[in-house]
Amino acid sequence: MNFEKELEQGRFYIPECSACKKLVWPPSEFCDICNEETSLKKEDFEGKIIEFSRQNEEYFCVVEFCDSIRIMAKMMTKPKKDQIVKISNCGISEGSYYFHII
Ligand SMILES: [Zn+2]
Repeated sequence: MNFEKELEQGRFYIPECSACKKLVWPPSEFCDICNEETSLKKEDFEGKIIEFSRQNEEYFCVVEFCDSIRIMAKMMTKPKKDQIVKISNCGISEGSYYFHII
């Protein structure tokens, strides 16, 4: 999947349907509404912290992008609810996606 090729390189791009323009999540080559192919929307996305929990010295946050897409991301400093963040580092490790935010 193109999404994963980019993610492996540390780039977070969101698949968008070429027909209805819906952002498709979980990432897929095809739109879950109209079955058309998706292409990656290449932007420097900003997300919003929905909630977070602390684990040792790290914080795990639920971050929402584009009002619809939610991911789990790690943050090293104390987050605030509704804080606007960007992905600083991301990739795939042992088959799972990971995201770090600042
Ligand atoms: Zn569509």
